[in-house]
Amino acid sequence: MKQLDERTRQMYEDCGISPQVLALGEEVLAELSPRFARIDEIAEYNQLKVLASMRKNRVSETHFAATTGYGYNDDGRDTLEKVYADTFHTEDALVRSQITCGTHALNLALSSNLRPGDELLSPVGRPYDTLEEVIGIRESMGSLKEYGISYRQVDLLPDGSFDYENIAKAITPRTKLATIQRSKGYASRPTLSVEQIGELIAFLKKCKPDLICMVDNCYGEFVQTKEPSDVGADMIVGSLIKNPGGGLAPAGGYICGRRTCVEQAARRLTSPGLGREVGASLGTNPAFYQGFFLAPTVTAGAEKGAIFAASLYERLGFSVHPSAATPRYDIIQAINLDTPERLKAFCLGIQSAAPVDSYVTPEPWAMPGYDDEVIMAAGAFVQGSSIELSADGPLRPPYTVFFQGGITWYHAKYGILMSLQKLVDAGFKL
Ligand SMILES: *Cc1c(COP(=O)(O)O)cnc(C)c1O
Repeated sequence: MKQLDERTRQMYEDCGISPQVLALGEEVLAELSPRFARIDEIAEYNQLKVLASMRKNRVSETHFAATTGYGYNDDGRDTLEKVYADTFHTEDALVRSQITCGTHALNLALSSNLRPGDELLSPVGRPYDTLEEVIGIRESMGSLKEYGISYRQVDLLPDGSFDYENIAKAITPRTKLATIQRSKGYASRPTLSVEQIGELIAFLKKCKPDLICMVDNCYGEFVQTKEPSDVGADMIVGSLIKNPGGGLAPAGGYICGRRTCVEQAARRLTSPGLGREVGASLGTNPAFYQGFFLAPTVTAGAEKGAIFAASLYERLGFSVHPSAATPRYDIIQAINLDTPERLKAFCLGIQSAAPVDSYVTPEPWAMPGYDDEVIMAAGAFVQGSSIELSADGPLRPPYTVFFQGGITWYHAKYGILMSLQKLVDAGFKL
């Protein structure tokens, strides 16, 4: 990596980064060139993959028109769904602004494909926090549990591998759907690679051929050249204010997969009899298309940020997860900051480096769907967008900050340097 020129150094200083913090950052970056080159290669492949499906489906300006009311014959919406389906190699896709977030998309996929008396299995341990209320692990009005859908979980083994023996035992004639979370989310387990997910699905299907295998794909899209749908997943589910929205989608979620699974979801999202035929796009189509087009390079920038943060903070003696050198399968970087003060200082740094709301101080709050208080830093163009540079962490030991996003690598870099600067300002010795 080439040396920064004097003007850029001065600019960093003018932007609040001390020469010591910048020097350390540059030293760490110098060693990351081979990793970054590999990320660029994956982005290049994925860019072609997205372009191929846009070209195949003859995306044109007419697809950017808004529909209102029922949204019948929204050709832009319907073509976008074909673009998603072709990119992820699935039979069908539902990509809608009416799917409000990732949790909603997952709830939709689960509640539409399960019936009273069925059992849901998580063979990869505890799911993402917000799914606890969806499933009814934590009592909640309207949970799957209230509808008579039971849940069983098999934890990963201590080394992070699958507990095949107990997974086989947990599958009963009632087991209808297995939910597999690709990214670690807020947990401390490893993120699963697409290859690992493929092995797990092969095993599950061997145990029960008609088991529906759903992958929570949040934060994983475009990090590898394959997606879980390339290795046997019946459904992949995610949020458009994460990777596939490319930072431009203002809201939304997707479910891609087998035609019957997606049809179930469409009928639950709107209504039996209406299904996917309704749902006005209200002007979201241009951002959905352009965001998906940008998603491979945006994801690559975010991943570079995650690796830079891991390498920088590991160098300073912090415990980071995944560690700097391990292969990476999502864009989340966890850093144990050990004290609430440092967690707050880190988030303040991310916030003050933001293009929007850089002047505010993030404070912990009791966020809906989460058990502990959470602090969040996000100076985002889209509220809550975590493909944009953002950091968050529950206020519980070991005060782990989960860091992700960055629409551009340079913004991610600046934010990470600023996080360290704020730690230093709060008394941390380099
Ligand atoms: C973000 C996330 C979700 C939930 O998505 P929201 O858009 O925040 O509702 C679910 N699972 C994983 C792994 C996630 O990272």
